[in-house]
Amino acid sequence: MSTERKRNARLFDVDRSSVSSEGYSLDGKLDSQRHSDILQKRETLPVRKQKNEFLDVLKKNQVIILVGQTGSGKTTQIPQFVLEAVEVETSVKRPKMMVACTQPCPVAAVSASQRVAEEMNVIVGEEVGYSICFEDNISDKTVLKYLTDGMLLREAMAKPLLEMYRVIIIDEAHERTLATSVLFGYLKLVLGMRPDLKLVVMSATVEAKLQDYFDGAPLMKIYCVHHPVDIFYTMKPESDFLGATIRSVVEIHQREEPGDILAFLTRQEEIEEACHRISEEIGKLGNKVGPVEIVYLHSTLPPDMQQKIFEPAPPPLVEDGPPGRKIVVSTITAETSLSIDRIAYVIDPGVVEQKFYDSRVGVKFLMVSPVSRDRADMRASLAGRTVPGKCFRLYTERSYNQDRHAQTDPEILRSDLGSIVLILKKLEVPDLRHFMNLPAEEALTRALKELSDLGALDDKGNLTKLGNMMSKFPLDPQMAKMLVVSPGFNCSNEILSICAMLSVPNCFREGFDKVKARFVDTDGDYLTLLNVYNEFKRNKEDLSWCDTNFINYSVLKSAQNVRQHLVQCMSRCGIEMCRTYLYGPEYYDNISKAILAGYFMQVAHLECTGDYLTVKGNQYVHLHPSNFLGGKPEWVVYHEIVSTSMNFIRTAMDVRGEWLVDIAPPRYYLKNFPNSEAKQILELLEKWKEEQRKWEREESKNKRYVPRKRGEEVGSREVHRKQEREESRNKRYVLSSNCAWKREESKNKRYVPRKRGEEVGSREVHRKQEREESRNKRYVLSSNCAWKREEEVGSREVHRKREREDRERQWEERKRKCATRKQ
Ligand code: ADP
Ligand code: MG
Repeated sequence: MSTERKRNARLFDVDRSSVSSEGYSLDGKLDSQRHSDILQKRETLPVRKQKNEFLDVLKKNQVIILVGQTGSGKTTQIPQFVLEAVEVETSVKRPKMMVACTQPCPVAAVSASQRVAEEMNVIVGEEVGYSICFEDNISDKTVLKYLTDGMLLREAMAKPLLEMYRVIIIDEAHERTLATSVLFGYLKLVLGMRPDLKLVVMSATVEAKLQDYFDGAPLMKIYCVHHPVDIFYTMKPESDFLGATIRSVVEIHQREEPGDILAFLTRQEEIEEACHRISEEIGKLGNKVGPVEIVYLHSTLPPDMQQKIFEPAPPPLVEDGPPGRKIVVSTITAETSLSIDRIAYVIDPGVVEQKFYDSRVGVKFLMVSPVSRDRADMRASLAGRTVPGKCFRLYTERSYNQDRHAQTDPEILRSDLGSIVLILKKLEVPDLRHFMNLPAEEALTRALKELSDLGALDDKGNLTKLGNMMSKFPLDPQMAKMLVVSPGFNCSNEILSICAMLSVPNCFREGFDKVKARFVDTDGDYLTLLNVYNEFKRNKEDLSWCDTNFINYSVLKSAQNVRQHLVQCMSRCGIEMCRTYLYGPEYYDNISKAILAGYFMQVAHLECTGDYLTVKGNQYVHLHPSNFLGGKPEWVVYHEIVSTSMNFIRTAMDVRGEWLVDIAPPRYYLKNFPNSEAKQILELLEKWKEEQRKWEREESKNKRYVPRKRGEEVGSREVHRKQEREESRNKRYVLSSNCAWKREESKNKRYVPRKRGEEVGSREVHRKQEREESRNKRYVLSSNCAWKREEEVGSREVHRKREREDRERQWEERKRKCATRKQ
């Protein structure tokens, strides 16, 4: 079997005969037509021509850097080459060692594993599997695992030397996600400790810096033919890029030669709206134009929908009619993570939605910002991958040259480092000097401070027990804390569902606010999300229920999946599961307090001006139009800030000021934040709280030291403690519980004299009394039968005597009667 052949071959001592162009599948099946088509197609990929060269370089080096354009076959082919070359069996046979290939987003990991499984003619989850946040599809057989970079970091927490991997491939290194940057630093340490481990770094752009970082590791380029791409700019700046994108798509479809279209937009909702409008507009053109297949793509799309982007364009409706076209509308996911064939037209509005973190004020933003020049070029190059193409930039040439950065900053330079620092603490990485892109000192200090405010780090910066638990959840530190402490507020069940719903995209279809209103809880969007999830479960996860309520079924299914994973994490950590009563008065309080326990840093106050001001960072924000809060509450806790024309807070909840000072660490708001109306109110609340605490302390102290009766002098501590002990001993039987009450009662019965004034008899006497009494009662009270017996008979002897006497009396009577008759 070819499996055997492959596994026994050690291509680190390259065996040329086995590096043939056919049959890389583990079981070597080449029967179906589809499979042979796939194999034929993969032979055309540029990377195939350099297979032997690659394996040679890999054999001689521990680290190798591979650069090749999108679509050259890096993601799908290189792991197969490696797999064929390395020995995955270990001496104990099980567990096998694996080849890991990281991807920047879940969609890419799932798609690559599907494609490679097809090429190898195996089932996904067996020899080839994937592991993404909240979803594993692997088995004992798995030898090639596609996973997100974040997942590899998490795996390192359990096995710091990553012993299960023989080769690790870091793909899409040019994207430089936060986790990839951290992995570079961490893997450099691991490579030093594990000479048998090999690392392949794959990138779409050449980076000399990468080579230097890995001590001059060899750089190998994949040679690709590239077709020319004509670039067009607009004459004037475009303000409505959504409208302009839709117009461009329709125009291309009407006027341009055959070839598929790829348009970039920023957010999921925007993409869905664009697809809807494009389909309407093209529908109006009738038979004058060819049929279209419109597909959308974003990083959290479920696998079955992802696959659509690889399907060919529809055929013409009638013979010799206008040709069909595939139109893909995507976020940056289609830039490099997924390579789509036959794209001839790219529409680039020149914007991208990115996460930013302002480390000066410690606020996270989701912001639409201009794409950098290197990203714009990458987008344009996609039009020339398989055919000559055109790229329509919806901005001016001047804007390209003057308004844009040359490169996008690595994520590590613009991110909140909280979750990464938590992982690094768990991994016991001594310091961060190993990082290629050192994060800003300010961001790092702030992350450490935030973690200690959350209680994850102690004064010396070591992980606390709470921090240790938090690090085990694949969530950001705030959300992890909210979940870990939720049993303290008696609502872990509800918080679990809320976490799950917050971890998936928006479940409401755009523009159906009236329907959304059915689920709205005016106390907060968190509760609205919880209502949707609960209703979904109550309706037995029914697809038609989702359709009638304009709710995205697949989003809710993935929320359910996330929830299941979190439940497993909870049980591994031994965290209690409990629920708060839905109709109880504490339902809202408990849930809000648990949310605040995690997100006390993300609070905004309604100022006199009618605007909200964030307590941290003093930013003016507005409630997002998707909020359904009842009015404008004084305090809100929010999940994120979205920056468009204004700063909006999305997913908010009404909370009370006094809870803030109660739940945040003492004096948190006063120490950390700039002066504002909110801070003054919190200061007052804090003072009041302090007074209350003082008063409570005083009271409890008084209880201990102040004499029992007025006028008496203060007794010594010893005396009072003794008094207290005695009192509590007395109380123990009286008040502690119902059982104690009963015990006390029964004791009284036993020891207290029967008659008032009498002295307490000895235990023996009373027991005797009791015994007698009970014997007396036995015939009287014990049962109906006894009653009857007692009534009828009395004692047997008495009755027999009575009977005898009766008989004698009757006898006497008869004798008397007889005597009278004789007379
Ligand atoms: P690179 O990583 O260099 O960008 P890939 O290995 O991702 O290239 O892609 C190689 C080829 O495989 C491309 O032509 C791409 O369209 C195709 N491909 C990748 N994934 C899939 C998939 N899931 N279904 C169909 N084709 C795919
Ligand atoms: Mg790739």
